[in-house]
Amino acid sequence: MADAAGRMNRYPDMAAVDLRERIAAHLAVTTEEVAVGPGSVGVLQQIITGLCDAGDEVVFAWRSFEAYPILVELAGARPVRVPLDAAEGHDLDAMAAAVTERTRVILLCTPNNPTGVPISHRRLEAFLQSVRSDILVVIDEAYVEYADAGSGPDSLALYRRYPNVCLRTFSKAYGLAGLRVGYAIATPAIAEGLRRTALPFAVSALAQKAAVASLDAEEEMAARVAAVRQERARMAAELAAQGWKLQPSQGNFLWIRADEDLRARLVDAFDAAGILVRAYQGDGVRITVADSASNNRVLRLLAANAA
Ligand SMILES: *Cc1c(COP(=O)(O)O)cnc(C)c1O
Repeated sequence: MADAAGRMNRYPDMAAVDLRERIAAHLAVTTEEVAVGPGSVGVLQQIITGLCDAGDEVVFAWRSFEAYPILVELAGARPVRVPLDAAEGHDLDAMAAAVTERTRVILLCTPNNPTGVPISHRRLEAFLQSVRSDILVVIDEAYVEYADAGSGPDSLALYRRYPNVCLRTFSKAYGLAGLRVGYAIATPAIAEGLRRTALPFAVSALAQKAAVASLDAEEEMAARVAAVRQERARMAAELAAQGWKLQPSQGNFLWIRADEDLRARLVDAFDAAGILVRAYQGDGVRITVADSASNNRVLRLLAANAA
């Protein structure tokens, strides 16, 4: 990046060839199946805007990633929110039942943000089998690197059998959120459509270089992720001992379901301690797994607020 910074008078490689080749090699797909964008949110906006006309419907679980309803409404389409099941996961039967003639896209988030619950491979496959072929299923795996092996779907294996889209990002485990680079793995026709309709030069040269370098530093990423996983397990065990009833999370965060009273109480306590958490009105609080000293502060605070 430091080298590339001296050449900022130049446009970036519009086709992001180096980066697409590295991603393709990393995931054993072809470069024709890779489309990059300014964050996976950028790619997702392209997908939704490209496929939806006014009044079309996009089905997704709720609560899930806050960007989904915004992107859908920006495209003039209608968000269809399907409540999570009692175990904080996607209710795929209810999502299938929410499909109408107007449904164009279904968004699946695994592990789900903010609850951390993955979709099982078996259930995802049955769902993909049942979905009408003119509906595009997008599998958003922003946190997949944090998931324990086998906890969620092998989405790329499923992609080879069903023409769904896998969305991935360099923003989370790779630590490049500020650079804005994410990508889709999609059939060559869909990926080409995404490349043709992309805002030109949306992924900067610095972002392309950094993403390639981060793929070259896979071992360092794996070590960081392993540390987060270890802390996640330690926190989950400690919180269970404190009496909190949490679903196991496969993300780099923990999810506390909370009614309004509890949510307000926790937000006040975290605020007073100078700890930033993500609170969702009526739903709960998401706490990022950080370094062990910070996590210990969180654990002490939650011990003092246990039900
Ligand atoms: C963070 C996140 C993204 C991606 O963000 P980008 O920075 O745009 O790549 C996508 N989906 C979910 C569920 C996320 O939490």
